[in-house]
Amino acid sequence: MREKVARPDEVRRWPGDFPVAHRYTPGLAGDAFLTALRDRGAILGSRCERCAYTYVPTRLFCERCFAELDAGVELGPEGTLVSFTIGFVGLEGEPLDRPVTLGLVRLDGADAVLLHHVLDPGDEPLEIGERVAVVLRAPEERTGSILDILGFAVAEAESD
Ligand SMILES: [Zn+2]
Repeated sequence: MREKVARPDEVRRWPGDFPVAHRYTPGLAGDAFLTALRDRGAILGSRCERCAYTYVPTRLFCERCFAELDAGVELGPEGTLVSFTIGFVGLEGEPLDRPVTLGLVRLDGADAVLLHHVLDPGDEPLEIGERVAVVLRAPEERTGSILDILGFAVAEAESD
């Protein structure tokens, strides 16, 4: 007999696990990005002159006009907070010990935005348009991962 699901939260469930493993390669453009991040602490992007648009991370081709691109632009290390959200529950719905703040940042020199953690935003509420700076892992701890970036920290205000 078929049941019509009217309320997804009331469906009958069969508990179990479904193991899935995958390996994702960064590709040529991603490898340039991750290597520069690990070896120089540099954040690279790709500029399409035709579209007047700078991607970050690097791209092998322009997603708008399909022009071939290279990893020739260095971005940041500061940028502008474009959006953010604060998470109070984990991916499985479990409450987190500490809320997690994620921010979309347009690094200086980039048009695209980069998503990463916002580190210890403190007691002052974050604001859209706020200046932030990339915080990197110590050079000897970098592995060539996006997590070589620890996150964004609110930039110190100019003192003059
Ligand atoms: Zn383009």
